[in-house]
Amino acid sequence: MSESQNARAASLSHLHSGNLSKGDPLSTPIVMSSVFHLPGDPAGARQYGRFDNPTWEAVEAAFAHLEDAEAIVFPSGMAAISSVLLALLSAGDRILLPSDGYYTPRVLLEKHLTRLGISYDTRPTASFAEGGFAGYRMVLIETPSNPGLDLCDIQLITKAAHASGAIVVADNTTMTPYGQRPLDLGVDLVLAADTKAPNGHSDVLFGHVAGRDATMIETIREWRKLAGVIPGPFEAWLVLRGLETLEVRFDRMCSSAESIATRLADHPAVRSVRYPGLKNDPSHALAKTQMLRFGSLVGLTLGSKEQAERFIDACPLIEATTSFGGVHTSAERRARWGDDVAEGFVRLSVGCEPTDALWQAIDAALKTA
Ligand SMILES: *Cc1c(COP(=O)(O)O)cnc(C)c1O
Repeated sequence: MSESQNARAASLSHLHSGNLSKGDPLSTPIVMSSVFHLPGDPAGARQYGRFDNPTWEAVEAAFAHLEDAEAIVFPSGMAAISSVLLALLSAGDRILLPSDGYYTPRVLLEKHLTRLGISYDTRPTASFAEGGFAGYRMVLIETPSNPGLDLCDIQLITKAAHASGAIVVADNTTMTPYGQRPLDLGVDLVLAADTKAPNGHSDVLFGHVAGRDATMIETIREWRKLAGVIPGPFEAWLVLRGLETLEVRFDRMCSSAESIATRLADHPAVRSVRYPGLKNDPSHALAKTQMLRFGSLVGLTLGSKEQAERFIDACPLIEATTSFGGVHTSAERRARWGDDVAEGFVRLSVGCEPTDALWQAIDAALKTA
């Protein structure tokens, strides 16, 4: 980890302590209040629970620290994405997004935003820069793509899209600010589903948007206040708690994923493996230039749908569930959602279990599958 990343990680759990008075609780309190004491002129104070909340402010300060940018929190990853789209796009605008990324934004555009006069195109992540960006108001990238784990060049795309006058937004859910820093590579906004590794305990949905352009951030913050798409204080507090251990969890998850992907690539039961950290992965050269870690997701293809299902069911250290980024390892066959992957393709989300114990369980399950 670079020195600046180390410094960020080290100071994260001390952000709040500088403002404490003697006798204050060291842990950030959860403030459950829809209203605030507000006599006379309301300017300059917290006014109402849809506008402000001290627990959101605390988790926003933590995200701002991690992203080195202003941050706005949302009740889910999709709330963050839909807020960026609705706050910044107008009728007549066109957006480009990945054909192989998280599928819900495409459904949202198709079912609802086209109705409002916003049009969209899709391209595969691996060839995202091909065709240029003329005519797009916004370009949304997701690298590695979920679930196929293809990469696109963040810096190259950002330069070309900016030259065409587009806003560039990166969905950095799979990487977290510890694994990849799209804002440092020039994108305008980064957003993420903190439902995944940032919260990490599979008990909350949450999201955030971060950026360094004050006007863009203010527009999105105003959208949140007017649309009422606000997180609950308890969820904000849980995410704040999760963030305090994100660095250790993500470090273990990525290190284990690297080791497990390497061993899977040599396993006779496995047809192919996708992991940006593997030297022979088509994305490896690009991964080394723009990723700080190679991530906690591994794509492996087994011989058939049945074999993939048997593998997931047979492994006692794999939870059969959707989503990723939890402390527990989990896996699912993505073709069951209609993703454009082989029937035997399994997305493995490597958790925080000790690496060797996890590998032994995976190896044993592959042998019985
Ligand atoms: C999960 C996910 C989302 C959506 O997050 P929710 O919290 O479920 O709304 C968006 N983008 C990516 C890449 C995701 O994996």
